[in-house]
Amino acid sequence: MFFYNIIRYFFSNIKSMFIVFMNIFSKRETLLYPEKKVNIPPRYRGRIILTRDSNGEERCVSCGLCAVVCPVGCISLQKKEGKNGRWYPKFFRINFSRCIFCGLCEESCPTTAIQMTRDFEMSEYKRTDLVYEKKDLLISGPGKNHKYNFYEKSGKINIFKKNNKNIKRKIVDTKKILP
Ligand code: SF4
Ligand code: SF4
Repeated sequence: MFFYNIIRYFFSNIKSMFIVFMNIFSKRETLLYPEKKVNIPPRYRGRIILTRDSNGEERCVSCGLCAVVCPVGCISLQKKEGKNGRWYPKFFRINFSRCIFCGLCEESCPTTAIQMTRDFEMSEYKRTDLVYEKKDLLISGPGKNHKYNFYEKSGKINIFKKNNKNIKRKIVDTKKILP
C-alpha cells in the first residue's frame, strides 16, 4: 500500500505539471480589474435607483409595493401627498447591506420608478454607508422605459403634462369596465 501511494502521488504530480505546462501560453480568463473594466450583461441586477418620468417628475407614488415584496425587508419609505393630490415618498431608504439584488422590487413597481442598474461598485468601509437615502437614489432621468408615464394612464387627479401643456384625461370608471 505504501509503495502504491508513492507511485499514485508521483503520477498525480506529473499529471498536474503537465496540465500547467499545457496552459502556460493559453489566453488568460481573469481580468486585471479595476484597470480593465468588466463586461456586465444588460440585465445585470446591480445598484438600485429611483427614476423620474419624461416631465422630470418623481415616478414613485409611495404605494409601498416594493417594500412589501422585498424578501429581506431592506426598503423603507413614508408617503406624503403633494398639493396636486399626488403621492410621493417623503423619505425612501434602501439598506444595501441587506439587499440580495433579487429584483423583486423592480418587478413589482407599477410606475417603473425603482430600477436596477449595472453598477456593482458599491463597496464601503462602514456598513452604515450602505444605507442609501432618497437623495442618493433619485436620478434626474427616466432610466429604462423612457416614455412610460404612470399619470398618463391613471392617478387620483388625471392631469399630465405633454409638450409643456396640462392635459386632463377623463378618469376611468372601473365599474363600467368589469368583465
Ligand atoms: S433587489 Fe430584492 S432584496 Fe434588494 S431591495 Fe429589491 S426586493 Fe429587496
Ligand atoms: S418605488 Fe414603485 S413600488 Fe416602490 S413605493 Fe414607489 S411606486 Fe411603489
